[in-house]
Amino acid sequence: MLGDQLNADSAALDDLSPERDVVWMAEVAAESTHAWSHKARIAIFLSAMRHFRDALESAGMRVDYRRLDDPDNRGSLDEELAGAIERLAPERVVVVQPGEWRVEQMLRRVVDESAARLSVLEDRHFLSTPAEFARHAEGRKQLRMEYFYREMRRKHGVLMAAGGSDDGVEDRSDDRPEGGAWNYDQENRKKLPKAGLTDLPAPPSFAPDKLTREVLELVEERFADHPGELDTFDWPVTPADARRALDDFIEHRLPLFGDYQDAMQSGEPFLYHALVSAAMNLKLLDPRTAIRAAERAYRDGAAPLNAVEGFIRQILGWREYVRGVYWLHMPGYLDRNELGATGELPRFYWTAETEMNCLREAIGQTLQHGYAHHIQRLMVTGLYCLLRGVDPKRVHEWYLAVYVDAVEWVELPNTLGMSQYADGGVMASKPYIASGAYVNRMSDYCRGCRYRPDQATGDDACPLTTLYWDFLDRHRKQLAGVPRMRMQLKNLERKSEDELEEIRALAERRRRE
Ligand code: FAD
Ligand code: SF4
Repeated sequence: MLGDQLNADSAALDDLSPERDVVWMAEVAAESTHAWSHKARIAIFLSAMRHFRDALESAGMRVDYRRLDDPDNRGSLDEELAGAIERLAPERVVVVQPGEWRVEQMLRRVVDESAARLSVLEDRHFLSTPAEFARHAEGRKQLRMEYFYREMRRKHGVLMAAGGSDDGVEDRSDDRPEGGAWNYDQENRKKLPKAGLTDLPAPPSFAPDKLTREVLELVEERFADHPGELDTFDWPVTPADARRALDDFIEHRLPLFGDYQDAMQSGEPFLYHALVSAAMNLKLLDPRTAIRAAERAYRDGAAPLNAVEGFIRQILGWREYVRGVYWLHMPGYLDRNELGATGELPRFYWTAETEMNCLREAIGQTLQHGYAHHIQRLMVTGLYCLLRGVDPKRVHEWYLAVYVDAVEWVELPNTLGMSQYADGGVMASKPYIASGAYVNRMSDYCRGCRYRPDQATGDDACPLTTLYWDFLDRHRKQLAGVPRMRMQLKNLERKSEDELEEIRALAERRRRE
């Protein structure tokens, strides 16, 4: 069992016999240094693994568990696995498909070199399989999450109204989506109110138990130079915790989740978000449970359709879709760099020491909690790297390191594809680019900033705005072929050559900062 496969109903545990079978688990330092992981990311994995081990043992199973602080620990997953195979001499090694291509290759290699046979089983945590996604992708010139999502809604009977005809957009089904439309995204982009969001419900707390406290101490000691803080570690590490996190969200935050999904507010890292991605990616929480609970809230009149559909789309749509994209395009996907970006990741991504308030807020809370919500990741930290021209691999390494929910199958398509457009349009039909005006519209960050979001030149010019025009200018030829970029490129044409010269010079200075 790998560290992100902690579901008791895992296919790897089917028909397990305590007399015949051993569950093998290992904590290894290499998995925390391969990406220079945030301390909270390391801690959540280790704590959840140890709780899972205890639950298996209480259920009478034999667990061969290697602790990180075991003096015999060989330090890497392949060496530990090879050692376990020598020690236990299994006839067969049974594993659920790992969440990372690299790990799957490693498993195959190590078992191949032994006398054991390997069985790689489907991960039944997900609602679709890589093979199903490949069938969906076959023959399509361009993939779009929306069509895959509709298929998933129908297949799993989620938020469907029986009978009648639907909204007709490339769709010949007789099933109608609940409310008549498949997607209520246009209702989910409310700006932050002038006075900000007040009376925000505090998310539930998960005070570390003895086992988690031991892990926190171990991480603090072994990974002292790693980024991030542990003082505020407050994440679910068991299925019961995860269920409590979900229930609390459904009751207190789901009703306004849709409205303020894209809003950002200083000093408020969580707003109305669910905070369940880490629990779900470790498999402590089944996505079906989350989907059903949200749909029930709608049917009971406890949450509006725009919020419930929006939440379900993230899980049944985006989450399954990005996994499909990952397995369809790996291993080549990791090396995609469509825009030829070669810049280094700015130092302040590890310290939050920058005068740009939006980045200071988003990176600051990331280092504190290992968390930032989607729009902060996409339209603040991701956007800045894209506009600045940072090498997408460096950006990927950062995202894989700093979030408690980071596992490669979900992180990579979101970062390299959706946020950096390095896949040339597999994930997104155009680069997600905007100037400081977008941040100003969706947040209160600019009010506390020394820069001016509406200025592209001069000392007070917002670096995002300068870099936005410079990005369009640098890539104008390449983007001319992207239909949804027409408007933005047209606006660029209105800039005089003098202004563009000033923008280019300032952008160059910003890139060196
Ligand atoms: P909510 O906003 O409350 O959403 C509910 C759930 O929907 C999430 O828990 C998550 O499971 C799912 N979800 C939402 N958006 C996405 C998405 N784009 N892709 C997949 N699932 C989604 N998510 C990860 O789980 N791990 C990552 O490593 C990760 N890296 C990202 C990197 C970038 C650059 C971007 C733009 C997004 C990334 N996401 C990642 C997606 C998303 O930002 C997080 O899932 C979300 O912020 C988690 O917080 P939450 O549980 O409060 O989510
Ligand atoms: Fe960010 Fe620019 Fe706004 Fe400052 S002015 S917070 S840098 S968008």
